[in-house]
Formats: sequence, C-alpha cells, structure tokens
Amino acid sequence: MGAGYAGAVLAERLASQCGATCLVIDKRTHIGGNAHDHYDKAGVLLHTYGPHYFRSNSERIVAYLSQFTEWHPVEYKILSWAEGRHWQFPINLNTFEQLIGRPSTSGEMEATLAEWRVPIENPANSEEVIVSQVGTRLYEMFFKNYTRKQWRREPSELDASVCGRIPIRTNRDDRYLSEKFQALPKDGYTAMFARMLDHPNITVQLGTGFREARQQVKYRHLIFTGPVDEYFDHCFGQLPYRSLRFEPETLNQEFFQPTMQVNYPNDHEFTRIVEIKHATGQQIPVTTIVREYPDDYGPGKEPYYPIPAPDAKALYDRYAALAEKEEGVSFVGRLATYRYYNMDQVVGMALTEFEKLKSRHADLPRPNAHLTGPAK
Ligand code: FAD
Ligand code: UDP
Repeated sequence: MGAGYAGAVLAERLASQCGATCLVIDKRTHIGGNAHDHYDKAGVLLHTYGPHYFRSNSERIVAYLSQFTEWHPVEYKILSWAEGRHWQFPINLNTFEQLIGRPSTSGEMEATLAEWRVPIENPANSEEVIVSQVGTRLYEMFFKNYTRKQWRREPSELDASVCGRIPIRTNRDDRYLSEKFQALPKDGYTAMFARMLDHPNITVQLGTGFREARQQVKYRHLIFTGPVDEYFDHCFGQLPYRSLRFEPETLNQEFFQPTMQVNYPNDHEFTRIVEIKHATGQQIPVTTIVREYPDDYGPGKEPYYPIPAPDAKALYDRYAALAEKEEGVSFVGRLATYRYYNMDQVVGMALTEFEKLKSRHADLPRPNAHLTGPAK
C-alpha cells in the first residue's frame, strides 16, 4: 500500500528478486508518493509536493536507484531573506562576512562563535542545538520564527534533530546539504518510479484507498506505507502531523530569484519560495515559483511531516508496539514508522526490510497463491 519509495522499492525487489506477484495501490492518481514530479501547464517541471533534493552518503542506495535512472548532478544552493536582504545560508564564512561587513577568516569566525555560543553540553531540543553552536542572534535571525511557522511549536519543544539537520560551517562551503552524493534523477522522479514499477509481476492500481482495497484484494503479505495510526483506526488517538499548502505562480520571465530556494524565516506566512528550475536545469523561457505555507493537519489535508517531539514519540511508541505484533504486515517508510526520513533513508529502510522478508519468507515466490487476508 503506497506507490512512494517504500512501496515501489519493495515491490521492485520482491518481483525482480523473488518472482513475487505484487499489487501496488495508492489513493493518489500517480506514482512516486511525495517525491512525484510533473510538468505544469507552462511546461515547467515541478516537484508536486515541495522541493525534493536527493542526497545520500550511501553508495549502496545510490547504486540501487541508478538501475532506474541517470543523474543530473546539482549543488543545492539556497538563500535566506532576513532584515531586508538575502543572506548566504546555511550559516558559513560568507554569512559571517555579510554580518560583520568585511572579509574574515575561518579562525576569526570560530573565535567569534565561541564567544556567542550558549554553553550547553548535550543540546536536548532544537533551540539548544542552534544556540549552543552560534548563539542567540543568529538563532533568532534564521531559525526561531521559521521553526515556529513550520511546526507551530516552539523550537524548544522539538527534538534537536529538526534544526540539527541544518549544517553550520566556518568554511566557504555554501551548499545546503553535506552528503557526498547530491543529484536529481535526470528525467525526473516520476520517470524513475515508472521504471522501477515496470515489471511483469507488478500491477499498479491508482486512485484506490487502503480500506477499499483491503476488502477486495487477496494478499499474502502487506507492505503498509501510510500513516501507522490510520492502519490501527486511531485507536490511541491521532498522531500529530504538519501539513502544507503549495501556491504555484507562473511568470513570463526566465528566472524569478537568484537561487532554487529562498527561505523567509521572519517575513510572510510562507516559509520558502522554491524555483526548482534552478536545480533541474530545465531550459525554458518561463518559470514557475512555488510559495510553501505550513498548515495544520486535519480532514482533507496531507500528513506531510511527522512531528519529531517527545510527546509525539510517546504516542507513536504505542502504535509501534501494535505494529510489531501485527502478523503478515511490514510497516515501512516515513509515515508508517513516523520518522522524519529523507528519501535515501526510506530506500535504505525498504532494502533492509526486503532482506528480512526474503529470509523470513524463503518460499515467497508463489505467484499463483490466492489467499484472503494476511498470512497467519
Ligand atoms: P510517501 O512518499 O508519503 O508514500 C506513501 C504513499 O502512500 C503516498 O503516495 C500516499 O498517497 C499513499 N497512501 C497513504 N495513505 C493511503 C491510504 N489510506 N490508501 C492508499 N494510499 C495511501 N526527502 C529528501 O531526501 N530530500 C528532500 O529535499 C525532501 N524534501 C521534502 C519536502 C517535503 C515538503 C516533504 C513533505 C518531504 C520531503 N522529503 C525529502 C521526504 C520524502 O518525501 C520522503 O522521505 C519520501 O517520499 C517517503 O517515502 P514513503 O514511501 O515513506 O512515503
Ligand atoms: N530551519 C530553520 N530555518 C531555515 C531552514 C530550516 O529554522 O531557514 C529549521 C526548521 O525547523 C525546518 C528544519 O530546520 O523545519 C529542517 O529544514 P529543512 O530545510 O531540512 O526542512 P524540509 O525540507 O524537510 O522541510
């Protein structure tokens, strides 16, 4: 269930390596999950659900995906808009020079940050992880309000891993991300997923909800990649999620902004404006920008982000205990394991689950098996 990374990787592996027959269902009318991309009316290739910057430190994961795509290397660069001007972001030596208004060195920056830093030995939340590295001035300039807008929580209520994702550097490396491999699928994500799912043993059924399919489909093993609380009918209450609203605008000009993403920590209701054309390298005389507005999760909204916070984790742990006991079902992916995972991490998780399934179900290749409901 789910035609995103978790579902597609497992269907591909089980079909191609074990000869299993796989039915991939998704309530959406397209494959790729949140990584889906499409061409808009103006012909601009857009990432449908927000910018998806592929990056990984794992050669195994890159090699796996490289069977289904060539890559377009990208150095992801962004800017942050604060105090009426663009700043180099994430914080690096160039940002420091902008701040002090003259050329500097890594040594001077390190010495200055050492003075600004709030001494905290083990940062326990997203406020502490930033102030313990750069002090309150830079925290308030770039992180505090962006985080409040994005999560509708105080940074101090969020795990350190949330703001801790953003690198802070004292050299001139101004790339948004630090992983070794940074590139986009050459023909886009959707084309890559289409190749993964193009196997005679795989059937893709779109526009089909889990509940409906569960009544109708006979299956031996279920890979569930949707929200884990939904699977268990929210028996312990609903897990918290953050949603988003995307507002695209096509402009009759080649480019709108200097980089693929500009963050707005303190101004506007939106958090960022993305002009993905900078990253895809598409040559086209018009451009489409997308303003991204954080939104509360509720009926009719997509649960884009699990919320990395202690209270949410405590509730998730109760669902995880049920999931652990559920026979014949694998819970895989960002929503099924309630983790703020990047794409490569979900691919890694799916490949690991495949190894488990392969050994646990040594007799998996039974393409003609017709069993109703999960295996007992
Ligand atoms: P999903 O892609 O969410 O797939 C789950 C699928 O299940 C969906 O297609 C959904 O429609 C389907 N589904 C759910 N419930 C049901 C149901 N009841 N019935 C039928 N189908 C159902 N990662 C990066 O590496 N780099 C980035 O730059 C990046 N940027 C991101 C930006 C945004 C705004 C978001 C939201 C995520 C971003 N990610 C990024 C994370 C990335 O999207 C995920 O890691 C990845 O897509 C997770 O794959 P998945 O298969 O677990 O889940
Ligand atoms: N963040 C911030 N200011 C920024 C960029 C990010 O405070 O300019 C914080 C914010 O809490 C955000 C988190 O860091 O949710 C992770 O940012 P990232 O860009 O990785 O988020 P994603 O692309 O997953 O939405």
